[in-house]
Amino acid sequence: MLDQDHLFRFVFENTDMRGELVRLNASFQTALKYHDYPPPVRDLLGEAIVATVLLGATIKFDGSLNLQIQGSGPVKLLLVQLSSERTFRGMAEWDPEANYAGDKWSLNELVGDGRLAITVEPENFGDRYQGIVDLCADTLSGVLENYFDRSEQLKTRLWLGASDATAAGLLIQLMPQKNDKSTHNQYQEESDDWQRVNHLSNTISMQELLHIPTKELLHRLYNEEDVRLFEAESLSFRCKCSKPSIENMLQSLGYQEVSEVLAKEKVVSVKCEFCKQNYQFDTVDIERLFSESISPVVPKTRH
Ligand SMILES: [Zn+2]
Repeated sequence: MLDQDHLFRFVFENTDMRGELVRLNASFQTALKYHDYPPPVRDLLGEAIVATVLLGATIKFDGSLNLQIQGSGPVKLLLVQLSSERTFRGMAEWDPEANYAGDKWSLNELVGDGRLAITVEPENFGDRYQGIVDLCADTLSGVLENYFDRSEQLKTRLWLGASDATAAGLLIQLMPQKNDKSTHNQYQEESDDWQRVNHLSNTISMQELLHIPTKELLHRLYNEEDVRLFEAESLSFRCKCSKPSIENMLQSLGYQEVSEVLAKEKVVSVKCEFCKQNYQFDTVDIERLFSESISPVVPKTRH
């Protein structure tokens, strides 16, 4: 079904506003199947994945767009990576000792004090970009609205939701006016159009966001508006871990550290944090790896 695992972009004709709607089903299920997340952690991860997809559709990037949350609560780390080919992977590190009872968890209860970073890692050349905001709102959508306001100077609203089967999000944004050479101040003014569309969007329920077919949903929300919908773009889960990337990571750790693990464990085993794929290296593999490793030191990154 076209509605599933797709991103829809649309514009409000004769205004400076655009929108995006994303719904992830099978791809979200794939991201979840390697983990056993408690429901509040799963929902936050789902929201973070759709938020990254929505974000990725508003900025041009070539390589990887990362959304990372670090905190002091039960969720210590949450990381989503989106590629310019519209594949993603995501994971959360959570405290198994914490009590996850109850279904209404604020961002603060889950993450505690923390920060959210948006990073663009270019594929080949180009600048690495990073924007950081404090977790100064009770919801991920609130934090991201602040981020857009401060870092991108674009008025933006987001509605995010996730359940065990689906993660979905809606974004509306006031675009910069093309011929305006003045600063962004003008865009901060809330026009009647913006206020009206904002109000209409705000009527969306979680049930509608997660389940109503896209065209029907847009009609329900904006039936008085002139909305032009663009062709849908598909999204899928893909983990980019590979044996060579794990070998690079081991080489960057250095022979001494790796051989100490080998001596103790008899085998060096590395599990991908996203897809749980296990990579194993025995003595022969490690000797071969380091006898070949005249390559330059590779920076430590997530593999
Ligand atoms: Zn993996």
